[in-house]
Amino acid sequence: MSRRVLTLAAVLLLLAAPLVLPEFYVTLLNYIGLSSIVALGLVLLTGVGGQTSFGQAAFVGIGAYTTALLATRYGISPWLTLPAGIALTVVVALFLGFITLRLSGHYLPLATIAWGIAIYYLLGNLELLGKYSGIAEIPPLTLFGVALADGRTFYYVIWSVALLALFAVSNLLDSRCGRAIRALKGRTTMAECFGVNTARLKIVIFVYAAVLAALSGWLYAHFLRFVSPQPFGVNASIDYLFMAVIGGSTEVWGAVIGATVLTFLKQWLQELLPKLTYESGNFEIIAFGLLVIVMLHRARDGLVPYFARLVPADRKRMLPVASEPPPRRAQPQRGDLLLELQGVAKRFGALVAVKDLSFEMRSGEILGLIGPNGAGKSTVFNLMTGVLAADEGKIVFRGERIEHLAPRDIARRGIARTFQHVNVLASRSALENAALGTHLRGRAGTLSATLRFDRAEEARSRHEALSRLEAVGLRGHVFDAASTLPLGSQRLLEVARALCADPVLLLLDEPAAGLRHLEKKALADLIRSLRGSGLSILLVEHDMDFIMGLVDRVVVMNFGEKLAEGSPREIGTNPDVLEAYLGSVA
Ligand code: ADP
Ligand code: MG
Repeated sequence: MSRRVLTLAAVLLLLAAPLVLPEFYVTLLNYIGLSSIVALGLVLLTGVGGQTSFGQAAFVGIGAYTTALLATRYGISPWLTLPAGIALTVVVALFLGFITLRLSGHYLPLATIAWGIAIYYLLGNLELLGKYSGIAEIPPLTLFGVALADGRTFYYVIWSVALLALFAVSNLLDSRCGRAIRALKGRTTMAECFGVNTARLKIVIFVYAAVLAALSGWLYAHFLRFVSPQPFGVNASIDYLFMAVIGGSTEVWGAVIGATVLTFLKQWLQELLPKLTYESGNFEIIAFGLLVIVMLHRARDGLVPYFARLVPADRKRMLPVASEPPPRRAQPQRGDLLLELQGVAKRFGALVAVKDLSFEMRSGEILGLIGPNGAGKSTVFNLMTGVLAADEGKIVFRGERIEHLAPRDIARRGIARTFQHVNVLASRSALENAALGTHLRGRAGTLSATLRFDRAEEARSRHEALSRLEAVGLRGHVFDAASTLPLGSQRLLEVARALCADPVLLLLDEPAAGLRHLEKKALADLIRSLRGSGLSILLVEHDMDFIMGLVDRVVVMNFGEKLAEGSPREIGTNPDVLEAYLGSVA
């Protein structure tokens, strides 16, 4: 059974449900649909994007109150209050996003709690909004003159919106933007090095999630026909977050499963517990907390990923259909001055990691950068890619100073890198990881991904990813999660991803570490053939045999300084170098 069949079955079940279920359950399903839309936003924002929000119910409130106020007081059609509510939500979310998403660690959730509470009290204290008694007599939605007033009819409205939202978010996640969003969780440096504007993207998904919440609020107001502040407080926000976590905060259907489980569980516990304890009180909350803990122990990533493992993904859908990769850039003339470091220095407190380092590189060259552990080689890569800012000196790439540019601006100029400590999206396929490298060669944004207008571009990106994976020898592992590959193969995956960026200069940080003899040989052949195609490569490596047969020139570093520079043969007999490597030559 494939995922597509399962999805179809779920949709059919949802369509048939109100025809057979009693009123009570239809109402419950309506609430589940409304919650699913909000939880879906949190799957995107928190589950996939790693930005925890405890304030999502406030956006539901903004959507609900906007339509309640405009429709009751000014008699505006709900179909016009919807865009108004969304517009207001976008403005508020942009404002809150700008001030809160810069915060990291525990501060972000705390800030979201703070404005969640603030908006709740605002709703409860404004005379205009009916204070804590809220706004009643909200008109029903009408479609072609028919009022959608009863629960069974409204069921179809809610679930149509919910299914469309699921479709939208799963499209978004299956795109250029989706790959970048997945990298927001702990992989921002890597993403920036491939051209992703992570700060902007965090705000985009924050607004996206807020709009979904507001949409749910608009539906809620016309379903219940009454709004008061209570369902938009922090408690409700926590419930939404629970739904996303329980369902599985990385899969879109997790939102629906989570909303279903939580809603039924609450309902059931509220009925069951008083019978068991003969006491009244909110015992269900305690029982509920315990259940959540047990569930997280058993299925830490939530229920959907737990079961998703049993249903194979549809691989054909992920394969490229384009016959060509995205356009390649023109490489500079072979032999032109490509890169120049002049007196570059970097200190970490008292530790001098790089000191007065100068060297040049010509286009089409393979330059080896070697030196003992801790010599400062990886730091040089970080300086060249903007991950770290140099304290002194100049870095000139193709005639332009780049030492103060952001990583993504350097990436745009044609420098791509691998990381010494493998930096991949562990749970995503090799194909997706490699395709992330094409980020700057595509343009599709959030909206075109959501509407699936990006398919031609996406197919070209996947074509490129597939052919680069093939080049590094990972053709047989295209659909394997990156974390299931041996470490050596993960390094090769990094090489493929960097090649996907179509760089002018490729920085490889110990690419051969962890490879077996034959794999090393294949990698050396690949590097040679890349040079043949005009690419310039700066290679950090420990394996001397690997370096010596491959590179045109070598720069040797020791204690952050340049110790020697020359052809492999000159370096191989240089006494200073031998001493640095072997301790003493005597
Ligand atoms: P190499 O790659 O040649 O092994 P590195 O460039 O990784 O060396 O490190 C050079 C020195 O700088 C080491 O002493 C290392 O501990 C230190 N170092 C590197 N990065 C940082 C950092 N972000 N903060 C503090 N010290 C660092
Ligand atoms: Mg290193």
